[in-house]
Amino acid sequence: MNQNNDIIQQIKSKNDIVDVVSEYLPLEQRGKNFLGVCPFHQDNHPSMSVSREKQIFNCFACGTKGNVFNFVMKRENITFREALAKLAKRVGINYQYTNSDAIEKNQPLYDAYKLASKYYQNNLASSLANKAKKYLLDRKIDDTLIKEFEVGLSLGSKDDLTTLLTKKNYDLTTLNQIGLSSGEHDVFIERVVFPLYDIQGRIVGFSGRIYEKSDLNKYLNTKETPIFKKGMTIYHYHVAKEEARIKNSVIVMEGFMDVIRASSIGYKNTVALMGTAMTSEQANLLKRLSSNIILCFDGDNAGRKATLANGNQLEELGLSPKVISLPGEDDPDTFILTYGKEKFQALVDHAIYFSDYKLDLLKQGVDFQSDLEKTTYINQMLKEISKIKDEIRCEIILKRLAKECDIGYNTLDKRLQEMKKQEGKSNSSDL
Ligand SMILES: [Zn+2]
Repeated sequence: MNQNNDIIQQIKSKNDIVDVVSEYLPLEQRGKNFLGVCPFHQDNHPSMSVSREKQIFNCFACGTKGNVFNFVMKRENITFREALAKLAKRVGINYQYTNSDAIEKNQPLYDAYKLASKYYQNNLASSLANKAKKYLLDRKIDDTLIKEFEVGLSLGSKDDLTTLLTKKNYDLTTLNQIGLSSGEHDVFIERVVFPLYDIQGRIVGFSGRIYEKSDLNKYLNTKETPIFKKGMTIYHYHVAKEEARIKNSVIVMEGFMDVIRASSIGYKNTVALMGTAMTSEQANLLKRLSSNIILCFDGDNAGRKATLANGNQLEELGLSPKVISLPGEDDPDTFILTYGKEKFQALVDHAIYFSDYKLDLLKQGVDFQSDLEKTTYINQMLKEISKIKDEIRCEIILKRLAKECDIGYNTLDKRLQEMKKQEGKSNSSDL
């Protein structure tokens, strides 16, 4: 532990904060301090001050502050350990992750996936791929997208990949364990394969899509393995990381096809959950990308359910996510294909707050002639409004509700304050 603290201090002292920050943005000296345009909020004015004396930075506009580690973590969207490693390397200190053993232990597994992906990509480039290529073109996945997303093809023979990998000294037990082989056969047979990446951009699984009429399931995904944990994975995270910073937002979609499509029209700040409800790990990872998170799920009932569950998960982290509602049965992929970039941009521009989205849903189907339904509706609304932290937004919504239900504003406000008090009490009794 002491040894660890020593090395942290050593890394910190050798990385002068003024030097490090000026590698990211121009700084100008003003008296003792240095001023620059803060990269953590939209601004043209130099609101961020960097002190060589105190070795800290501080933005007067958005309040972001900290030491050299905090700056690099936030600017690069990386963890403390990653920032340590980066800054250590910058000044030539030999520092390794304490969990480097785990990384090295799994390296052969990542290598197996890399080999498999190369093999599948070669197949798709060969003359055996005509039908698969036609399928992809029909789905508007052209050569550029195939290359960018490393799309490949598993052929009809049942053990090509398994044979290839056992020749490279992988044993069958390992190949079964990581989901590339099943028994002595390949897992993916006659499917277009899309690699699934972990948040660092390493291939850790595949999603295989049938491309000819078949009774088999349309999609086959790699099972959970030591390197592929669905609840920790976010598709396209490694690319969206940088884009989210530039665009100051990240768009969360349901499937990888949605991301590929959105990316093809310039939305590279998109990610997809791996078909599961958002875990708290995933919510925290998203929070690291941007505080401005936009949910864009399918227009059907399942999509609405996903929006509700995932929006609540993000709200629990103190975020105020936004929502794009797609019409009818569209998903982002089909919407963009049908209506194009401009229409999609309009949806992004008009994304509504998740809290408003929930309020809209509550209203649906309420019979305002029935006192009972109206009362239930008002109480549900107040419960949701009590969760909104922004007082101005609360007042706007409350005024709208008062008008809509023909109830005095003060009556509603009084009830809301009571609810908040009650909420505060029950929270403090939890502790
Ligand atoms: Zn700032």
